[in-house]
Amino acid sequence: MKLVFATHNANKFREIQNLMPDDIELLSLSDIGCDEDIEETGDTIDENAMIKAEYVRNHYGYDCFADDTGLEVQSLAGAPGVYSARYAGEEKNDEANIEKLLSQLEKRDDRTARFKTVIALNLKKNQNLFTGICEGVILKEKRGTKGFGYDPIFLPDGFDKSFAEMDLNEKTKISHRGIAFRELMEYLSQ
Ligand code: IMP
Repeated sequence: MKLVFATHNANKFREIQNLMPDDIELLSLSDIGCDEDIEETGDTIDENAMIKAEYVRNHYGYDCFADDTGLEVQSLAGAPGVYSARYAGEEKNDEANIEKLLSQLEKRDDRTARFKTVIALNLKKNQNLFTGICEGVILKEKRGTKGFGYDPIFLPDGFDKSFAEMDLNEKTKISHRGIAFRELMEYLSQ
């Protein structure tokens, strides 16, 4: 069975390709000739994942899945949430996003936050959603140099290392994305 992973991120694609059951041939967007950026116009993380999966099915006719992730900070009413990538501006700069978040939290005691990944799977005319959540807190300053995005300021509950102090395997065992993708794999292996 052919299945498209609707992402332009080559690292994410390779990571997932290795986990796929043998009977699934995973195709990238460039494999199906889709070079355009699929616009993320939804108001929620769930909606954006669904929009990307629908786009591939409607324009290219393939079964497919798409993921979307956001960081939800409790005392900021769930911000940056669906706007996590462009929190400090359209240039999607990780450093600027971190600076903005730290300054928004400067005078707040509650630093509770969670990462949420949603995967929308469009398979044989059905749609299923898989959600992974990782709870934690936002640190007062950056720790570690690994990872990307908000990793240096996110401390997952029950650990004394930030995401940016963990190697990828360690992070994937507990991360929002790891949880959501393991749910997807379990479903596809049935
Ligand atoms: P995407 O939907 O996976 O592209 O994620 C949107 C944005 O959320 C990224 O640009 C990052 O700023 C942030 N993000 C997503 N996943 C992670 C993560 O695992 N660690 C840190 N930041 C992340």
